[in-house]
Amino acid sequence: MKSIIRIILLSVFFVMITGCSSEETNEEIRQVTNVGIGDEYIDKLSEVLGELVEVEEESDNGSQEEETPLISYDVIDDELSNPILEVEDKKWEHYQQDIDKHTQLWQLFASIVPSKEREMVTGFYVFTDGVGNTLGAVEPRYENPEEWLLSLDIADSDNTKELIDTLIHEFGHLLFLNEEQVPFSEATFADLENDQVLERLKTNCLQYFTSYGCSAPESYINQFYQRFWVEIIEEWESLDVETNEEDLDHFFTNHEDEFVTDYAATHPSEDIAESWSYFVLSYKPENETVADEKISFFYQYPELVELRTTLLSNLYNVLTTVHE
Ligand SMILES: [Zn+2]
Repeated sequence: MKSIIRIILLSVFFVMITGCSSEETNEEIRQVTNVGIGDEYIDKLSEVLGELVEVEEESDNGSQEEETPLISYDVIDDELSNPILEVEDKKWEHYQQDIDKHTQLWQLFASIVPSKEREMVTGFYVFTDGVGNTLGAVEPRYENPEEWLLSLDIADSDNTKELIDTLIHEFGHLLFLNEEQVPFSEATFADLENDQVLERLKTNCLQYFTSYGCSAPESYINQFYQRFWVEIIEEWESLDVETNEEDLDHFFTNHEDEFVTDYAATHPSEDIAESWSYFVLSYKPENETVADEKISFFYQYPELVELRTTLLSNLYNVLTTVHE
């Protein structure tokens, strides 16, 4: 009797071991395959667009104009509805009336990013600040921070490569700052605007404190911050890197091989979004620099590797359909 139990136990144990190891192998194969399929799409996309990410970030040579919101939409069932003109001025009418363009911009984002990954986007804004400067942005709705708005500059929308880069970057923000990653219930906007409450929330946060609150321990942004920012945050905080160009230059020069672009050095949230863009749109680097390690950071998450493949495949399909 005892020996039978032992045999049964042994075989259960054996099944557990083999079950476990074959699952791991399958996972590894799936991961390797996903990277390979993604890379093949990069090959094909490069044939259509040239190199997807520029090694050197081009400096903005557009004139700095004030940002003007032009028209806003609600996103309902994947379609743009309830258009509202945000400004009344003949100067902007040609942009405001170009509904085909607005729809085309939204459709591009909706075709690249799988719907379950962008459920939080319930509004779409078209704005302009002239050619160059800001191309896109995302922000949570003030009245309901679980919902997000995507904004795009219509004046920049003909630059396909930059538009794609921006859409992947903005999607990165949604991926790394959404409610699951940074629980908003802990810190609503009102709390964030009250200095005393904000200080208390920051002190009580053991993880990275983002612009929207305390990140979850296992969140991508907290893991990224703990690995790449803990040692430089004091220097970053002592400067005004976000708005002062000299400070940005100084900080970026001090850490040149740590950032994929100079814009990445402006804020940890921009750093992860820029690195994410490089992760999606280029091959896995050799990890010779910290900037390379930031791109490789995402390869430890099978779900992100899979998402990379999906984004690239969608991108290829949408671009080749347009080009036909
Ligand atoms: Zn950004």
